[in-house]
Amino acid sequence: MAESVPAQPALYSGSENPPSLNGGRCHRCGYVFFPPQQYGCESCGAPPEELEAVTLPGRGKLHSFATVHLHQGKGIEAPFTVGVILLDDGPAIRSILTNRTGQGLKAGVRMSATIVSQGSDEQGREVMELRFEKAAR
Ligand SMILES: [Zn+2]
Repeated sequence: MAESVPAQPALYSGSENPPSLNGGRCHRCGYVFFPPQQYGCESCGAPPEELEAVTLPGRGKLHSFATVHLHQGKGIEAPFTVGVILLDDGPAIRSILTNRTGQGLKAGVRMSATIVSQGSDEQGREVMELRFEKAAR
């Protein structure tokens, strides 16, 4: 089996499914954020030293979604659906959904992160990309 690599290793684990997300938490006010950043707390203004890296389970509920029917970019074929998921830990994340047309989705449904193959890179490694799908329950 070919080696696999996450497309954006700073944001999530590419080897486990479901993947966990790399976020952060403020020691001073408890604010949890995603994606990870080192500028300081967006909520209370605490300096970067107050921030710690935390792993966020990729679970939450669908806030909103939109289906793209025409797309000129490479690497992804229309139609595809982009959703905003409110993670159980607090932050909102925007992600492409595995449900290409959005059919059967509605705001409020439970969603979970998953890892899908997006083909291979120039070194022949399988590139794994983060997606969200309707949770089993
Ligand atoms: Zn804070």
